[in-house]
Amino acid sequence: MKGVQSKNYNVVIVGGGITGASLLYVLSRYTNIPRLVLIEKYNEIAHVNSHFNNNSQTLHFGDIETNYSLEKARRVKEAAEMLKRYLEQYARGAFRKGYKMVLAVGESEVAELERRYEEFLPLFPKLKKINREEIARLEPRVVKGRNQNEKILALFTEDGYAVNFKKLAESFIRESRSVEKEGKQIDIVLDTEVADIVKSDDGYRLETSREVFTTDAVVVAAGPHSLIFAHSLGYGKEFGILPVAGSFYLANNVLNGKVYTMQIKKLPFAAIHGDPDVDNPQETRFGPTAKVLPLLERHKYRTALDFLQTSVWNVRGVRSLMKIISDKTIFFYVLKNILYDLPIIGKRIFLKEAKKIVPLLEISELRYGRGIGGIRPQVVNTITKKLEMGEAKITGNRIIFNITPSPGASVSLKNAEQDALQVVSMLGAPFQFYEKRWCEDIGSSMVECRE
Ligand SMILES: Cc1cc2nc3c(=O)[nH]c(=O)nc-3n(C[C@H](O)[C@H](O)[C@H](O)COP(=O)(O)OP(=O)(O)OC[C@H]3O[C@@H](n4cnc5c(N)ncnc54)[C@H](O)[C@@H]3O)c2cc1C
Repeated sequence: MKGVQSKNYNVVIVGGGITGASLLYVLSRYTNIPRLVLIEKYNEIAHVNSHFNNNSQTLHFGDIETNYSLEKARRVKEAAEMLKRYLEQYARGAFRKGYKMVLAVGESEVAELERRYEEFLPLFPKLKKINREEIARLEPRVVKGRNQNEKILALFTEDGYAVNFKKLAESFIRESRSVEKEGKQIDIVLDTEVADIVKSDDGYRLETSREVFTTDAVVVAAGPHSLIFAHSLGYGKEFGILPVAGSFYLANNVLNGKVYTMQIKKLPFAAIHGDPDVDNPQETRFGPTAKVLPLLERHKYRTALDFLQTSVWNVRGVRSLMKIISDKTIFFYVLKNILYDLPIIGKRIFLKEAKKIVPLLEISELRYGRGIGGIRPQVVNTITKKLEMGEAKITGNRIIFNITPSPGASVSLKNAEQDALQVVSMLGAPFQFYEKRWCEDIGSSMVECRE
């Protein structure tokens, strides 16, 4: 693309999912950086994992997610509170409030949930233990037909938020553009794929399918594709991606609120749950399943080549992947999850899992959610030979790369705060982060309000 006129910005954001959109919002409203652009390869915002069809639509706080440690729950709660404040002030049409619970079935799960309740109550004082009768009053089908001798217990809270993360991302974009009247330039460039990011003397040059952009700093918020750009610039060579697809089964009017099941230890993906769709509460969604697929985007088979680029093709990389997959718990879980997507028998096998939540659920009630469900880019650390349990951020010279498995959407605003602070410090004076305004609007324990 030599000889092509380039457009110049202070910051380029690559990727228009919830991560990129929330960063654009924070940089445009809470810093004095004047020229920003977000580049998205599809012709709409939030078309991939942040699309309402492709995730579990949950604002995770850590109270009913039994795969979170207390420390992780503390961090996720702080981030979720920030997003909740935004939703309630600026995006009331993007969420639905409702109750949620985590259900323990059988002696050992009940004992584990009792222990967890004591540990988590100080962090989540609104959490209540509810017994069989209370569960039946709220969710009749969770109790109907269940063996009377089978012990059950649930932790319950009224404070559940189902979120349409696509609508939320669109709201971030709208709010960002509202600063254009202050003379800032906020550009959204859709239908344009970034092909290459090249370091230049004073910043970066981005070559895209349409035009060339030059910039002082870059934030790559392209989900698993972020790692391809990181590798190409020599960063994060120790990381690879294990793509874990999640599918959903659908039924009509089965549950009134969100019902989680207890987590299998060691798994970095959330346990299967059932809940009403955020925009169509008559539809109950069961899932997500967890199937390893060699793709970076669901149903986009050409991303198999991209997957190859995110793998670490050396002895250490292959050994790490083998070690993770050959773990007995993960191996059998992944195997079972492959079966869920098979025609005819998949539904029958999944029904057994869903019956843990709704014992009398009928095969005729369930239908496979065709075309829905995204891919969680689980990060493989080839040094520790383990799966990282959450999101990963790689920071380089005036460049940040975000890789965002669940709960990436719930923590997006907190993540944007961290990126914005870092970008301001990368660019240096005269750029600044408006901490006081940020604290008053959204709040965060990391940035303290100053007079
Ligand atoms: C089954 C499932 C259930 C989940 N449930 C939840 C949940 O309940 N709660 C929660 O908080 N999180 C959940 N998550 C995780 C959450 O969906 C993601 O963490 C979040 O959507 C990631 O947002 P993102 O903007 O980083 O990525 P994405 O939404 O994937 O956006 C990345 C964007 O980058 C664009 N892009 C990629 N490459 C390029 C390029 N070269 N040039 C230009 N643009 C590019 C893509 O087109 C895309 O729009 C779930 C995920 C899955 C798969």
